[in-house]
Amino acid sequence: MARIVKKFGGTSVGDVDRIRNVANRVKKAVDEGHEVVVVVSAMSGTTNQLVDFCRAAAPMHDAREYDTVVAAGEQITIGLLSICLQEMEVPARSFLGWQVPIHTNDVHGAARIESIETEKLEECLKGGRVAVVAGFQGIADDGRITTLGRGGSDTSAVALAAALKADQCDIYTDVDGVYTTDPRIVPKARKLDKITYEEMLEMASLGAKVLQTRSVAMAMTHGVRTQVLSSFEDLPGTLVVGEDEIVEQEVVSGIAYSRGEAKITVVGLEDRPGQVSHLFAPLAEENINVDMIVQSASEDGTSTDVTFTVPEDDLRKAVKILQDRKDELKYRDLVYTGDVVKVSVVGVGMRSHAGVASKMFDTLAEKGINIQVISTSEIKVSVIIDAEYTELAVRALHTAYGLDAPTDA
Ligand code: ADP
Ligand code: ASP
Ligand code: MG
Repeated sequence: MARIVKKFGGTSVGDVDRIRNVANRVKKAVDEGHEVVVVVSAMSGTTNQLVDFCRAAAPMHDAREYDTVVAAGEQITIGLLSICLQEMEVPARSFLGWQVPIHTNDVHGAARIESIETEKLEECLKGGRVAVVAGFQGIADDGRITTLGRGGSDTSAVALAAALKADQCDIYTDVDGVYTTDPRIVPKARKLDKITYEEMLEMASLGAKVLQTRSVAMAMTHGVRTQVLSSFEDLPGTLVVGEDEIVEQEVVSGIAYSRGEAKITVVGLEDRPGQVSHLFAPLAEENINVDMIVQSASEDGTSTDVTFTVPEDDLRKAVKILQDRKDELKYRDLVYTGDVVKVSVVGVGMRSHAGVASKMFDTLAEKGINIQVISTSEIKVSVIIDAEYTELAVRALHTAYGLDAPTDA
């Protein structure tokens, strides 16, 4: 007998028939004698709709009330799944985040799980029942409902697996594993049997939303055996593992892209010590995460241009902060756009191989795609390009690094 946490995403619980399909999968594991904790997301589209409601009510709204609204989607699916399980004579009960409780900090909209009390869940499992837990949500010290950021149910699942010392954490979704790149835009993408925690962490943080970044970080820290697999087909999935478990390591193992980026250029900023620090300090104070930065050399030595990226959702706020400080910062102009995408190549093999970045630049140049900003780290190279070239760039890079699946011809 094993203790298993199973997480099902939005598409997998998209209607009552699909929820019944989930219940069938859960029943199978229960019949095999396992203890099962299920984590579910909201039905597909529901969270987006709830977010839109908040924006329609007020573009700048109270983050605590936002969480109250967007956490509602998961309440529906935990109840429906418990009903479906009971219909199949599988004893089950639902838990909202606060009923577990799952304690988080108070960063509403992007809260971090701090601890999970396992007593009630243990009691439920001991009583031979399935615990159906709402993903994406928790409770702050002041008693208010929090949410963990988009895609946060993955993190709920891994955190529960760690807290309950589960033997494995299965993340069921609408694809049958982690691919070399998003299979929805590259039909030749290849499914990986295994991927290292580190690569998955980079892929996720660079836009591969198949797992939320924090869930991978948590799996890595706690050594949670995590698997991504299809909720519709009985196929082996992808295991996220330590580097020692990978036998043959490719130089590049995946390509990720993120559309949620925006680029800001501060034109004609006075070129003197301290200016860049004055520019970024107020953004940091407002929790705006500045990612890639380039400062271009000034022609006459008196002024410079600084280009950087921020999450697209923060663009308005960032621009307002900089406009409000125009006199103080002494820049000439502010140019910004959300029509950019970040494309990245990822692989731990890069540590020991040269030429990965230059191959990326050559490939994009051949396609006539202009690179606007570049950043590198030990295991990734990222570029910012015009959003309209996303598919073209990702497909060309996928081919250039030899990642395309072999054709049957
Ligand atoms: P869920 O609702 O189950 O959490 P998500 O939509 O959050 O599902 O994540 C699954 C999606 O992630 C897939 O449909 C796919 O389009 C996308 N995706 C992006 N990059 C990858 C990748 N490298 N491998 C697999 N899926 C990916
Ligand atoms: N329902 C939430 C979202 O859409 C959480 C999740 O799906 O993981 O972001
Ligand atoms: Mg998801």
